[in-house]
Amino acid sequence: MTLLLRAGLLYTGSREIDDGWVLMRDGTIVEVGSGRAPHANQWVNEPNCIAMPGLVNAHDHMYQWATRGYVPDGTLFEWLRALYPVWTRIDADVLRVAARAAMARLLLSGCTLSTDHHYVFPRGRPGLFAALVETARELGLRFHPCRGSMSLGESKGGLPPDSVVEEHDAILADTEAMIGRYHDPQPGSMCRVVVAPCSPFSVTSELMRESAALARRHGVRLHTHLAETLDEEKFCVEKFGMRPYELMEDLGWTGDDVWYAHGIHLNDAEVERIAEVKTGIAHCPSSNMRLGAGACRVEDLVRAGARVGLGVDGSASNEDANLAMEAHQAMLLARVRSTSPRALDARTALRMATQGGAECLGRDDCGAIEVGKCADIACFRADDLAHAGIQDPLAGLALAPPARAQTVIVNGRVVVRDGRLKTADEEAIAREIAATSARLARGG
Ligand SMILES: [Zn+2]
Repeated sequence: MTLLLRAGLLYTGSREIDDGWVLMRDGTIVEVGSGRAPHANQWVNEPNCIAMPGLVNAHDHMYQWATRGYVPDGTLFEWLRALYPVWTRIDADVLRVAARAAMARLLLSGCTLSTDHHYVFPRGRPGLFAALVETARELGLRFHPCRGSMSLGESKGGLPPDSVVEEHDAILADTEAMIGRYHDPQPGSMCRVVVAPCSPFSVTSELMRESAALARRHGVRLHTHLAETLDEEKFCVEKFGMRPYELMEDLGWTGDDVWYAHGIHLNDAEVERIAEVKTGIAHCPSSNMRLGAGACRVEDLVRAGARVGLGVDGSASNEDANLAMEAHQAMLLARVRSTSPRALDARTALRMATQGGAECLGRDDCGAIEVGKCADIACFRADDLAHAGIQDPLAGLALAPPARAQTVIVNGRVVVRDGRLKTADEEAIAREIAATSARLARGG
């Protein structure tokens, strides 16, 4: 089965080709060219669009779609303390509805590969991880679910209440079971499992160490939150006598199989070290601004040669899951942080949203439109009212707030066409998430 996509401008991640086309077969890109195109079973023609590599979401908590708008003016720790009790009420039904909303919004923003960091497993609520994996299959999203965890409750000096943390052995056993059931290491994989204890203030050092050993035994990646706020830095210095990144080095949580969410409060030496050991950073500008967490030193990390991707983070601290918007936000925030319009240019922001994220997730088969790579492509209109006439239309995708994607292809399958989801009913998802959010808020 072959699919041919033709676009007014084809941006491969390194080349910009007018009137370009991409030929895909069985989920893989087999030919890229311009002008006269070869025959294919199925055609998508987008003369008014820019086609680019599908966007990669390097950090998220999809369950949070059911708890948007809480603590609108709180710090991370205030926001977490208020939300933990609400999150203890989630079950597989809530998660399924929330994940459908999150994934729908991601796909409509041009995202084709996403991780999800799920770390809330209330006692006696089975099927949570399975609900995520099945929803990604249903909507057609390439997916890297993280088996997250929390093991350090309030009674042991952690931030979360004891009711929402799990037992050490149970976490490791279930994580290993999820790897066995869902992890596909093959090139072109649609599902890879990640091991992801939540943060320095919600898991024990023993769990961090043993999680790293478990992941390395199975050849899967490691993910956690790091250096998100100054409150976290204070917690680490007081409890462990180390800064957050020093703690990660001490726990064996550095290297090219690790990526952190946020990485905001890093000093010069830590920026250099992170680049050197090839640990990734998932920058989440909207969430960081919403929580007043600070601004990641993306331009310094990029200059140092670090792997930097973009994430929407959970929608309880973003209120959306629009990955294209994060490229726009990242570019603007970097310029504010360094008071320089040259801090981050549009193409670098778009590279972070694609190849940078793929590097964080360990995917050398995603993030670019090249022969042999996965057939994951996003097309954005350059002729709509918001974008028509912008000089340098490719830069315009990051300079102007993004429109929804016009066409999105994942693994050679058209999942968004004419700005509409093909794999789910958007209005039905909106009705379901409204009802589920209301029920959760009432305590149901
Ligand atoms: Zn997060």
